[in-house]
Amino acid sequence: MIFLHRVGALWGAWAKGLCDNVRMTQQPLTDTMACRPGCGACCIAPSITSLGKAAGVPCRHLDAELRCRLFGLPERPSCCGGLQPSREMCGETREQALRWLSELEVMTRPGG
Ligand code: SF4
Ligand code: SF4
Repeated sequence: MIFLHRVGALWGAWAKGLCDNVRMTQQPLTDTMACRPGCGACCIAPSITSLGKAAGVPCRHLDAELRCRLFGLPERPSCCGGLQPSREMCGETREQALRWLSELEVMTRPGG
């Protein structure tokens, strides 16, 4: 049950970004935090249909410091601009974020 709650909470956070490759539950974001420098997990682990990005592949817009080159530009996808860091998604370390986002990707894969 706790596990399902975690899935639901993160699902809501992700859905808030209007990513086009996820189903939505629209739960409120209550657990915000600052983005971790040098992480980029949310730009690597999930698939992002609007970018043609496969799961586990770094987004082509990441720079060498794992920052988004499109930040602040109109070309940046709305799903990226709407996604907010949260402890639920980002965890305590980059490795935790990568693992959790990879698991979420598998759990929410259409037909999965
Ligand atoms: S997973 Fe969280 S900490 Fe890592 S880049 Fe994304 S928003 Fe930032
Ligand atoms: S466009 Fe920017 S924010 Fe979106 S996945 Fe790529 S690097 Fe990350």
